[in-house]
Amino acid sequence: MISAYTCVRNQKKPILIEASNQLGGMISTLDTEWGLVEKAANGLLNSEEVENLINDLDVNVIHHQPHSKRRYLWNRKITQLPVSFFSLVKGFVGFFTKPGSPLEDENFFAYCQRIFGEEIATYIIEPAMGGIYGSRLQLMDPKMIFSNIEWEPNKSLFALFRKAKKKSSHKKPKLKGLISFQGGMAEFIHGLEKKILPHSQIILGQPYTSLSSLLLKYPQKEVRVCLPAAKVWDLLKEDKETSQYLDNLNITQLPHLSIFTVTRFSKEDLFPKPGFGILFPRSNGFHANGVLTNSSIFSHRTKSPEVRSETWIFAGEILGTKTESELLELIEVDRKKLLSTSSSPLAVYPTLWNHAFPIYGKELYNFNQTLDILENNFLQKGIHLKFYGNYRRGIGLRSIIDKIAQEYKGAFKN
Ligand SMILES: Cc1cc2nc3c(=O)[nH]c(=O)nc-3n(C[C@H](O)[C@H](O)[C@H](O)COP(=O)(O)OP(=O)(O)OC[C@H]3O[C@@H](n4cnc5c(N)ncnc54)[C@H](O)[C@@H]3O)c2cc1C
Repeated sequence: MISAYTCVRNQKKPILIEASNQLGGMISTLDTEWGLVEKAANGLLNSEEVENLINDLDVNVIHHQPHSKRRYLWNRKITQLPVSFFSLVKGFVGFFTKPGSPLEDENFFAYCQRIFGEEIATYIIEPAMGGIYGSRLQLMDPKMIFSNIEWEPNKSLFALFRKAKKKSSHKKPKLKGLISFQGGMAEFIHGLEKKILPHSQIILGQPYTSLSSLLLKYPQKEVRVCLPAAKVWDLLKEDKETSQYLDNLNITQLPHLSIFTVTRFSKEDLFPKPGFGILFPRSNGFHANGVLTNSSIFSHRTKSPEVRSETWIFAGEILGTKTESELLELIEVDRKKLLSTSSSPLAVYPTLWNHAFPIYGKELYNFNQTLDILENNFLQKGIHLKFYGNYRRGIGLRSIIDKIAQEYKGAFKN
C-alpha cells in the first residue's frame, strides 16, 4: 500500500493485486470490549520519511508514553541492567576497539560474544534481538542484522556505525521513538486506503502465481513485488527464467518461523514501575520470548483505566510442540514466575502467524543478493522490477518506508 501510494503521489494509476480479500497484510486492529488488540505491529519507529508520509494522511498520531522508554530484561529478577559492571565495561571496550566486520561463517551470537562478551550477548542482546526477530541468534547472520553497514576490515563496530550514520542524509523526526495511531495500526491502513482507492485499480482475492504470468496479463514497465519472503521464493520458483537464480542458493526453501501472540487483558500491573515490556533470555526457564505492556506504551489502549493490556510473544520451536490452549496456560505459568501470584485474565485474544518471518540468516542474505541481481537484469531488459518487504533491509515498518522513500526520492515530501 505504501508503495502504491508513491505512485498515486506521482500521478500514476497503480494496479494493486492482493491474494486476500482485504488490504493491509499482517496489520490489523481489533476493537474489543476491553480495548484495542493489534494483530501484528503495535506501532512503528518514527523517521523523517515516516513523518512525511503520515503528515500526508488523515490520521491521529500518538506518541509512546515517556516511561515506556524503560525496557526490562530478566536475569533472576526483572531489571533494566541484567549484567555486571565488569561485563558492561568489557562490552564498551569491545564495541570501540574490536574489529566489527564479521568473521567468515560467524553467526550473530558468536559475533556478539566476540565483540561484547558472553554476558552481554546472553542476557541483553539475545533476549532483545530474539524478541524482535523471533529466532535464535545462532541462526542469524550479522550482515543481515546490520544491513546498512559497509563492512571494512579492522574498523570497530562503533566506527562502522558512525560511518553508516554519516552517510545517511536523514534528518531527525519531530517525534522521536515509537508512534502509533488513536484507532491503532488499522487507522494507518485506512489512512493509506483513503488516498489510494480513488486513484488505483484494486484487485482482491487474486494471488499472483508466477512473474511471467503476471507480466503477460499486466505488461507494465514497473512492477513492485511486496510479498513475504517465502511467497517471493514461490513466485520465482514457478518461472523457468527466475528459478535458475534460486538454484545457485543450494536450498529448497528459505528457513522461516511462525509467531504466536496473545493479548491478555487483566486488572493487574506486571511490574511496579511502568515500562515497555520484559524480554526473557532463552536459558531462564520462561516459555515466552517476551511480553509487551501495551497500556504502558500508549495511552487509551484499554477501555477503562483499571484494565491493563499485555501482549505475550512466542516464536520458534515451541509452536511445533504445544497447542493453543497449552500456550495460554504457559502464559499463566510465566506470569506466576514474574509475580508469584497472578489472577485470571479478563480476556485473551490469540493470533497465530504461520511463517511470519524468514530467519535472518546466511540463506536470507544470499537470497537478497540474488534479488539485487534479478532487479538489475530486469532493468537491463527495460522492466523496473523491485522487491519490498521486511526481509530486504530491516524487519520493521520504518525500514520498509525508508527504503521506498530512498528509492523514489522525496516520495512523501510535500
Ligand atoms: C506479531 C508481530 C509483531 C510485529 N510488531 C511490529 C512492530 O511493533 N513494529 C514494526 O515496525 N513492525 C512489526 N512487525 C512487522 C510488520 O508488521 C511487518 O514487517 C509488516 O507488516 C510487513 O508488511 P508487508 O506488507 O511487507 O507484508 P505482509 O503484511 O505479510 O503483506 C503481504 C501481503 O501480500 C499478500 N500476498 C501474499 N501472497 C500473495 C500472492 N501470491 N499474490 C498477491 N498477494 C499476496 C498477503 O495477503 C498480504 O496482504 C510485527 C510483525 C508481527 C508478526
